[in-house]
Amino acid sequence: MTEPRKRVLLAAPRGYCAGVDRAVVAVEKALDLYGAPVYVRKQIVHNKHVVMTLEKRGAIFVDETDEVPEGATVVFSAHGVAPSVHEEAARLSLKTIDATCPLVTKVHHEAVRFAADDFDILLIGHEGHEEVVGTAGEAPAHIQLVDGPDDVPNVNVRDPERVVWLSQTTLSVDETMETVRRLRERFPALQDPPSDDICYATQNRQVAVKQIAPQVDLMIVVGSTNSSNSVRLVEVAIEHGSKDGHLVDYADEIDEAWLDGVTSVGLTSGASVPEVLVRDVLLWLAERGYGEVDEVVSAQESLLFSLPRELRRDLKAAEAAKAAKGADALT
Ligand code: SF4
Repeated sequence: MTEPRKRVLLAAPRGYCAGVDRAVVAVEKALDLYGAPVYVRKQIVHNKHVVMTLEKRGAIFVDETDEVPEGATVVFSAHGVAPSVHEEAARLSLKTIDATCPLVTKVHHEAVRFAADDFDILLIGHEGHEEVVGTAGEAPAHIQLVDGPDDVPNVNVRDPERVVWLSQTTLSVDETMETVRRLRERFPALQDPPSDDICYATQNRQVAVKQIAPQVDLMIVVGSTNSSNSVRLVEVAIEHGSKDGHLVDYADEIDEAWLDGVTSVGLTSGASVPEVLVRDVLLWLAERGYGEVDEVVSAQESLLFSLPRELRRDLKAAEAAKAAKGADALT
């Protein structure tokens, strides 16, 4: 009897999004420009490998701003910070580089605007997630967290005619829509955000996984356990037909037993995962007979964000100084 054809369906898009790329490059450029150490508040992006690589280059990750020595440089992570964190950094005379993803900043602005109009803001998100803490900090008196559909009965508002929902950028689209449906049952006048809060990268990676999940026995998602969008990809895969699904940081975390009876493996990665880690998993799978790889492309991405303003200004000044020195040397 011939063996069934073993193959890998590789999801696209996968891996780095524009916000993660910008945040990681911001720390790298800051290290080049100012020299080590550069402090980073929280993990710059939720990926173990990225954090370890930057640590080796001289980044120091801290939990709170008050752990940064006075006058030092600190980068705020892609997940964003509350205004109180900016205030504390100013009090400590820190030089700050804000690597908050512009798509998170957009949600902050929405929160500020609806709070100014005295709306009750129902922020759908995961309790304790850094992004949610940062967004809620923009208008604590107006925002309450709704942590999924089962949390809806706990919501109380002052005026059911002035209620809006916003969300964390990295949630499951389907689960969020279910939360909104239940909220709207309770508050029919509930307003939608002006545009999607769940970002393009989260949505695209989920759509790609939905496309291949029904065709695979096992979905491997490369990503860290604290990465919300990566964890969601495993859930989405299983909900949409993958028989099994696991999250791994590295290829050597894959358990060979997961491959028992598996013909088709799905593979993707979260928005904070460098492609080299996916390549390692492909090699690992090829060594076990899964050498045939079909990439399934469900969308093209071309979005790029410019570096944080403070950093661009300093890079430009450094370049100008270098050019002036070069001109002096010639005269
Ligand atoms: S996942 Fe979305 S919101 Fe988060 S950094 Fe990437 S683009 Fe920005």
